[in-house]
Amino acid sequence: MDVSVVVVGAGPAGLALAGELRLAGVGVVVLERLARPTGESRGLGLTIRTMETFDQRGLLPRFGEQATSPQGHFGGIPLDFGLLDGAHKAARTVPQSLTESVLESWARELGADIRRGHRFVGLDERADGVRVRAEAPDGPLTLTARYLVGADGGRSAVRK
Ligand SMILES: Cc1cc2nc3c(=O)[nH]c(=O)nc-3n(C[C@H](O)[C@H](O)[C@H](O)COP(=O)(O)OP(=O)(O)OC[C@H]3O[C@@H](n4cnc5c(N)ncnc54)[C@H](O)[C@@H]3O)c2cc1C
Repeated sequence: MDVSVVVVGAGPAGLALAGELRLAGVGVVVLERLARPTGESRGLGLTIRTMETFDQRGLLPRFGEQATSPQGHFGGIPLDFGLLDGAHKAARTVPQSLTESVLESWARELGADIRRGHRFVGLDERADGVRVRAEAPDGPLTLTARYLVGADGGRSAVRK
C-alpha cells in the first residue's frame, strides 16, 4: 500500500478528515484538483457544534476575533441558542476560505500529504483496498490505499 487512506477533495470536509486521521496516526494523502484555493466563500459562519469541535482541537485562536450571535435557525425556523447551556455561540462572519486555510495548515502540520493540482479520475476496487487513479501535474498517477474517501463535493466523482 502507498498510504492507508486517500481523501479526494480539499474542501472543509476533506481537510478536517485529513487532520483527524493524522491525529489518530493514520497516513493520509489528499488529492485536490485545484492548484490553489479559489478564495471563494459559500459558507460564512460556524455553527455551535463546529465551534465546539474546533475548540476541542485548539483551532479557534487561528480564526482571530469572531462576531458571535445566539440567534440561529434550523431550516429557516428561528432559534435562540442563548437558551442552550454551552461555552460557545455560533460565529457569524467566518468566510469558508478562512476555514479551509486554517484546516489545511493544521492538517499539513500534522503530516497530511496534501497534493494540489491532482484530479481524481477513477478507482479500481481490490480485495485489500483500492487503487486510485488521478491526473497529476506531471502526468497520470496511481496510488494504492486501504480506503478511499469521497470528499469531493456535491457532484462527487468518487461516489459516481
Ligand atoms: C451555492 C451554495 C451556497 C452555499 N451557502 C452556504 C452558506 O451560506 N453557509 C454554509 O454554511 N454553507 C453554504 N454552502 C455549503 C458549503 O459551501 C458546503 O457545505 C461545503 O463547501 C461542503 O464542503 P465539502 O468539503 O464537503 O465540499 P466542497 O467544499 O465542495 O469541496 C470539494 C473539493 O473537492 C474538489 N474536487 C472535486 N472533484 C474533484 C476531483 N475529481 N478530484 C480532486 N478534487 C476534486 C473540489 O475542487 C473542492 O475543493 C453553500 C453551498 C453552495 C453550493
